[in-house]
Amino acid sequence: MGNIHILDEASINKIAAGEVIERPASVVKELIENSIDAGANTIRIELTKSGKDSIRVTDNGCGMNRDDAALSYVKHATSKIRKIDDIETVRTMGFRGEALSSISAIARVEITTKTKNELSGTKIIIHGGTLVSILETGAADGTSVAVNDLFYNTPVRKKYLKSNTAELSRIMDIVSRIAIGHNDISFSLFNNGKELLRCPSSELPGTIIHIYGQEVARAMLPVDLESPVVRITGFISRPTLMRSSLDFQSFYVNDRSINSKAIGFALREGYGTLMPRGRFPIAVLKIDVDTHEVDVNVHPTKNQVRLSHEGDICDMVKQAVKNALSKNDLIPDIKIPLQQSLPYETPAADPLLVKEATTYFKPSARDTERRLRRSDRSGMENDGQNNEVPEVKVLGQVDSIYILAGTKNGLMIIDQHAAHERVFFELVRESKRDDSQELIVPINIELDSREKVLIKDTIPYLEEFGFRISEFGHDSFAVTAVPIVMGKLEDPQIVHDIISDILSEGKIKEETGIFERVTKSIACRSALKAGADCSVSQMENLIKQLFRTDNPYTCPHGRPTMVSFNRQELDKLFRRS
Ligand code: ADP
Ligand code: MG
Repeated sequence: MGNIHILDEASINKIAAGEVIERPASVVKELIENSIDAGANTIRIELTKSGKDSIRVTDNGCGMNRDDAALSYVKHATSKIRKIDDIETVRTMGFRGEALSSISAIARVEITTKTKNELSGTKIIIHGGTLVSILETGAADGTSVAVNDLFYNTPVRKKYLKSNTAELSRIMDIVSRIAIGHNDISFSLFNNGKELLRCPSSELPGTIIHIYGQEVARAMLPVDLESPVVRITGFISRPTLMRSSLDFQSFYVNDRSINSKAIGFALREGYGTLMPRGRFPIAVLKIDVDTHEVDVNVHPTKNQVRLSHEGDICDMVKQAVKNALSKNDLIPDIKIPLQQSLPYETPAADPLLVKEATTYFKPSARDTERRLRRSDRSGMENDGQNNEVPEVKVLGQVDSIYILAGTKNGLMIIDQHAAHERVFFELVRESKRDDSQELIVPINIELDSREKVLIKDTIPYLEEFGFRISEFGHDSFAVTAVPIVMGKLEDPQIVHDIISDILSEGKIKEETGIFERVTKSIACRSALKAGADCSVSQMENLIKQLFRTDNPYTCPHGRPTMVSFNRQELDKLFRRS
């Protein structure tokens, strides 16, 4: 007997299911897509425990008769294509006939469905891929699929599920994306009986209001560019409205929500220098092309497509974005972010790194002075004089980013933002957590529905740092106090940035992780900016502050704060030895 054997059918199905169904959000996506394909104009999603216990998707689409229902959960059963060539022209979301079979293999599924022409409907129950029963039943027109106990028979997968908040956040992300892509369909989403999202069918701007809120919708610019082969429509945010993550970009090819680095890059290029480093525009871009131009069958989850003329389409996207931006009156005094032209490499490890403060408007001298003063603890107790301040003489500033200083026997170059970030990082880390100061005028921040879910879990941690945040009306939160280290807060954007830094990373895995994340974010947002002009005494002050820290040589993200060359190294550079 050899070692090779063929796996049994049940094992094959469970393995195959893993490709399509990774988590509750994948179930939600597949079921919604089936409802869309069934021509529904109202889709309701109900979860218990973020979908871990149950997911029910109910639609008013075409429904299935008894024979179709009995086949629907069988592998490779589809009504959408008949032969492989049909993929060339398929416009439906599904076509592989895998979703219901995959879901049924790893959960307890109950499908209730009825077509318009029939008087009674069908209820079919499948547990772990095995048919339990099929009965005639009374039912509304359309289909309701309930998926209970997901992964009950694949405990390993179940173990990999994240916290309820994290899973819910993914579901909200998917539902939001699909709702924007299909703004002609009404969506509602409930978790444990609570309504989280209601998005009635409307024109695209209306849907954007429902998903992202008024504030965002107001700052969006329309995009529309057409060529004989492709049409690009949608909305992009004005350069004044940026986010610190890519979560707010949705791309669609023929109504299918897709991930595409290339399109994301084209979008970015369209903004050119209008977009500061580490900030990302909000965008909804719909690309319509002839179906022959798209291969939708490159990935089991179908969230990637292959475009035959991807380069041309990306050029169009870039052009469409450019046109939209130039047609509209944008803020006049935009500064080209200086650091964009600097080719320094950034370590990839820390996701917060991309969110380092960037200069958009040149910081004022007052702002710079204030930031430096806030972090100055000389004369205070506990000023941690750990390192001897080396004898340095400030020689000047390069590009408002780097400080040049002469040392006893060489040259030192300091990155002013990284250096000040280190100072603040240690300050925040050591400050008493409840050192808080009331704001005279509370800062109002508007969050989208996904952020709203996340912030509830985050507030207790933020409060430990001295923030006080309370729900204020439907979509807004009011920040009434901030940590004392942040000083008199003149720029409310900082608070919004800190909160979105933290939310953009999604779930909170462990306490230490979140404390570190908040500390880094406060430090980064409070620190002196790259692009700020500094006087000699300010630079001297910064260097002094830096050398009082426990670890002056790297910023909290692990980047160097300074590089130095001693005399020998300088000699070598000039081949003097
Ligand atoms: P696919 O969507 O790739 O065809 P699925 O496994 O998702 O494969 O669904 C199998 C079939 O079941 C579909 O082709 C469709 O005919 C039917 N079906 C599934 N969900 C619904 C629904 N909500 N309404 C009507 N028919 C459905
Ligand atoms: Mg499907």
